[in-house]
Amino acid sequence: MSAGEQTPVVPLEAGAGPENPPCPACGEPLFGWIDMRAGLAGPVSRCESCGLGVVGPPGDAEDALRALERVEEDGTLRIANRGGLAAWIGGAGWPGLEPGARYLYTAESARRLVANRDRVVTSARWAPGAGIATMWQTVLNGFTFGRNVALAALGRGRATAAEKRWQRRMDAGISAVVAIPAMLFALPMELIAAACGRGAALNLRIELL
Ligand SMILES: [Zn+2]
Repeated sequence: MSAGEQTPVVPLEAGAGPENPPCPACGEPLFGWIDMRAGLAGPVSRCESCGLGVVGPPGDAEDALRALERVEEDGTLRIANRGGLAAWIGGAGWPGLEPGARYLYTAESARRLVANRDRVVTSARWAPGAGIATMWQTVLNGFTFGRNVALAALGRGRATAAEKRWQRRMDAGISAVVAIPAMLFALPMELIAAACGRGAALNLRIELL
């Protein structure tokens, strides 16, 4: 690597510390991603190595595994992909940052975590419906005061309502007006993202070794 490159590649010994605690999935240092925001339990950090995102204190592998296993059903689970294009363009407006979120997974971080249980991720496939919906909501979140208003109204995910009543009323109207233009943008974006392996939602298949 040349001296001018900005990519943070920090050996664990050098990078770990109170500011950069180790990633629960892979042990590399975590870096700040998003400051404290309404509805979240703390600032959000992310791992540059496996892509895991963490809200608040990182906890350990067991904590991250338990949260992952909670959404597992018969060896399959769906994650909002922290490594997806939607998370990258959405930042603080990414719908994966819903109230109560603690760990934000990628296929790689899930693979690292389940290895602790002698299990492997045998496939990580794009989930088209959830992926398109997540990208759509990512775009809508750029227009509203609150977050995830449309998805929550459709019974998917939890909204962070805007603070003031007039803002909440505006949000309902904005979501309705912008819904179709946002979809016209989100659909091709998500198709491109999925083609590049960076879809917004993934179905993971996990099996015992
Ligand atoms: Zn990591």
